[in-house]
Amino acid sequence: MHNLSIAQLINQLQTKAVSSRELTQHFLNRIAQLDPGYNSFVTVTAEQALAQADAADARLAQGNAPDLCGLPMAHKDIFCTQGVRTSCGSKMLDNFIPPYSATIVENYAAAGVVMLGKTNMDEFAMGSSNETSYYGPVKNPWATHCVPGGSSGGSAACVAARLAPAATASDTGGSIRQPASLCGISGLKPTYGRISRWGMIAFASSLDQAGLMARSAEDIALLLNTLTSFDAKDSTCVDHPIPDYRADLTKPLNGLRIGVPVEYFGEGLHAGTAAAVDAALKHYESLGARLVSISLPHSSLSVPAYYVIAPAECSANLSRFDGVRYGYRCKDPQDLEDLYRRSRAEGFGDEVKRRILIGSYVLSAGFYDAYYSQAQKARRLIQQDFVSAFQQVDIILGPTSPSPAFEFGSKGQDPVAMYLEDIYTIATNLAGLPGMSIPCGLVDGKPVGLQLIGNYFAESLMLNVAHQYQLGTDFHTLAPAAIS
Ligand code: GLN
Repeated sequence: MHNLSIAQLINQLQTKAVSSRELTQHFLNRIAQLDPGYNSFVTVTAEQALAQADAADARLAQGNAPDLCGLPMAHKDIFCTQGVRTSCGSKMLDNFIPPYSATIVENYAAAGVVMLGKTNMDEFAMGSSNETSYYGPVKNPWATHCVPGGSSGGSAACVAARLAPAATASDTGGSIRQPASLCGISGLKPTYGRISRWGMIAFASSLDQAGLMARSAEDIALLLNTLTSFDAKDSTCVDHPIPDYRADLTKPLNGLRIGVPVEYFGEGLHAGTAAAVDAALKHYESLGARLVSISLPHSSLSVPAYYVIAPAECSANLSRFDGVRYGYRCKDPQDLEDLYRRSRAEGFGDEVKRRILIGSYVLSAGFYDAYYSQAQKARRLIQQDFVSAFQQVDIILGPTSPSPAFEFGSKGQDPVAMYLEDIYTIATNLAGLPGMSIPCGLVDGKPVGLQLIGNYFAESLMLNVAHQYQLGTDFHTLAPAAIS
């Protein structure tokens, strides 16, 4: 059952070939048996899931249930879930039980989707390896001595290990696409503003975007309509028409202009990754698409600009965790100052502290002009590179990550090496564009991802381009050897 696509699962549920309770129990059993080896879930909500499954079965019995009714999925532990602990991978929120749910969690619940549990992640979504989680690292199901990527490593690993058909995730600089790439699954980060951020714990508000992980583009298309809703509670949510994301999947790609950025194929790209991406580009040519060499000349500014802007925003967003209102509070504070200091010193991990320090520094009166305002100028140049590129091409393709999954601890001592993991994904967040990763090969038994970057609100075209590739290739159907 766990190898069926979401279209097949929906069909089974709607025709009552399987009940939501049976399906939910099947995935809960897999999680209980296999997840001790991966650590992809922080919380499993078995009892609540079965109650939701029974409610879904009752709706299905009445007829006219929404398409997704009864389908189980997982939510990244960055999304608030009413009555269910939402830790954001941090000791700071280890005891936090939100009184409300994120809009996207509510959207799925209203459609009858069953929540299996909450997935592990880098602390406050800061990281590319899941090694910064308070709950310990997630293991890559393809190679358990390697990282699954991050920060949505739990969501990626649980989908790759067939512990859930799909999971929500979030992407501030690559956290959907990079783990999707390292775990051999498909992941979509929509256009900034397309999806409500209400109830998603903020890291860097001008970059954060909620999205999806599943095995195929078609699976994502089936889930995306329910994820998407205009939400007045998020002031950056855009009231833009919502298409039927399934409608364009089957369009032929004749004449599609694919931009291939020269800057994405230079030094630092693993030869095996480059070869897999090249082969994917050739496949697109065989489907009638035309490859156009393009330049995104300010690409080299993306990582430096991001590591000024994201920490600046995070230092402001994380100031709310002060030991007073909610979250971790130190024992026996001597006075208010001691309460603030020790609650934050004890509640946050090293990477989060590093970012808060950098952010406070670049926003300080003496350095604001030298760093923060320069980074914002670079951000605009990066965005304009894409605006010019999309005058010549319909979509941009390249690698998602510079190399396949790396070993635990191999980048731990060098934060900059870790930051370079997102060298191809970060520009998309700085520009607010949608990005996607789909599996396009294996190197030494480990998956490689192809990145698709679309124009604003071009999610339908991206899903179409990804689906056409998946119709003619089988990388998205491959499972890690340990998974049957
Ligand atoms: N790896 C990047 C970082 O550490 C991106 C994380 C993310 O997208 N949430 O900030």
